[in-house]
This record gives sequence, C-alpha cells and structure tokens, in this order.
Amino acid sequence: MDKKTILFVDDNKAMRYILKEFLAMSGYSTIICEDGKHAIPHINSADMLITDLNMPGGISGVELTKIAKRKKPGMPVIIMTGAPTDIPANHVANEIIEKPFDVKRLRKVISDLLRR
Ligand SMILES: [Mg+2]
Repeated sequence: MDKKTILFVDDNKAMRYILKEFLAMSGYSTIICEDGKHAIPHINSADMLITDLNMPGGISGVELTKIAKRKKPGMPVIIMTGAPTDIPANHVANEIIEKPFDVKRLRKVISDLLRR
C-alpha cells in the first residue's frame, strides 16, 4: 500500500521535530515546513495538510487552509493550535486539534480523514 504524504507546517522547531517523528511512526511520509510560503509549493504533492494557526511570514494557518482547498479541493486539512478561540467561525479546515494534542486522537482524526 502506498504511503500517504502529510504536509506539516509549524514555525515551532520542536513541534516540527515531534510531528515528523510521530507521523513517520504512524506510517506516513512527511513534508515539513516552517511557514506558509514554504508550504504552498508542496500542496499538490500532499494527501493532507496539518498546519499551525499562528505563524510569522504573513500567511496564517486559516489562510493556508484556504489556499490548499483552492489548489486541491478534496484535500483534508487539520489546524493544530494552542489558541483555538482565535480561529474564525468561517474557517474551512476539516478539523481543529488543540495543543497540547492527544496522540491517540490525532492519529484517529488523520486516519479517518484520509479514509474518506
Ligand atoms: Mg506558531
């Protein structure tokens, strides 16, 4: 079975490291980026986007989600944030995961979204 590729975007270095390990252990290929600008060229190669909300560089997780859905309408997107109340009600992400995240829940949300 082909490995699914997850694009993970977070300005926090420790989060990038943790998620890279977690996603690899869960059987996924990963593309890891530090901000939206670097992530945009990889959207078409990914099966799913998981993005932080607040990142420097002018593209928030909400904005990156919109860009991803425009480029690849069927791609599932998870926003992971410690500040879920900062997310506007009209966001277009499939799921919001609050940091610190629960490993089991994140794994289930990812596999459920990829199975659709
Ligand atoms: Mg951040």
